[in-house]
Amino acid sequence: MSTVLIIEDEQRISAFIAKGLKSAGLTTSTAQNAAAGYELAASNTFDLIILDLGLPDEDGFSLLGRLRAVGMTTPVIILTARNGVHDTVMGLQNGADDYMSKPFHFDELLARVRLRLRPNDANSTSSVLEYDGLTMDLLRHTVLVDGAEVELSSREFALAETFMRNPEQVLSREQILSRVWGYDFDPGSNVVDVYVRYLRAKLGAERLETVRGVGYRLICRR
Ligand code: CA
Repeated sequence: MSTVLIIEDEQRISAFIAKGLKSAGLTTSTAQNAAAGYELAASNTFDLIILDLGLPDEDGFSLLGRLRAVGMTTPVIILTARNGVHDTVMGLQNGADDYMSKPFHFDELLARVRLRLRPNDANSTSSVLEYDGLTMDLLRHTVLVDGAEVELSSREFALAETFMRNPEQVLSREQILSRVWGYDFDPGSNVVDVYVRYLRAKLGAERLETVRGVGYRLICRR
């Protein structure tokens, strides 16, 4: 199982990332500042590091530089403010492998995480999810319904993946929103209902059951 170190001082964002990665089958460790992050990164083997640039005790670039200087080759995805494009370019020149600008949607981050983990995880069976005639290949980004490929948008794919990882479980709109749309979602939005409708049209209406007043559940067809 791949292990991801999250170095991020904003508790809300750190918890959001950790929760999402865990439900995607990854193991996580978190550090709230650069000193703790360095300590963890230097004394453990991680498959990937997610590094916030704005840390309270040290600039993320400087931390990355120190880690690279002691020979750490772990891929690093940096988190940067939307207006930090200049910083980002600098980061990519200074040892980062990829970046995400904040705010971001979880599925975008997960796609980048998967891309960076791919060399190690290429043979892992966990990249394929199967349930009642549905097959999702997370690396190839394909979905088969009873053996026939269907096209899903990236948001539909992320929503389908959330259901496929939690078959038979009722998922609330809030859970789905935070997993698929991100931490800055509007809880009053009906976007989940709209996308469930899209998914029903593509995967089969009877697969996604409405649980009144709560949310939705992926069920076996009867
Ligand atoms: Ca920060």
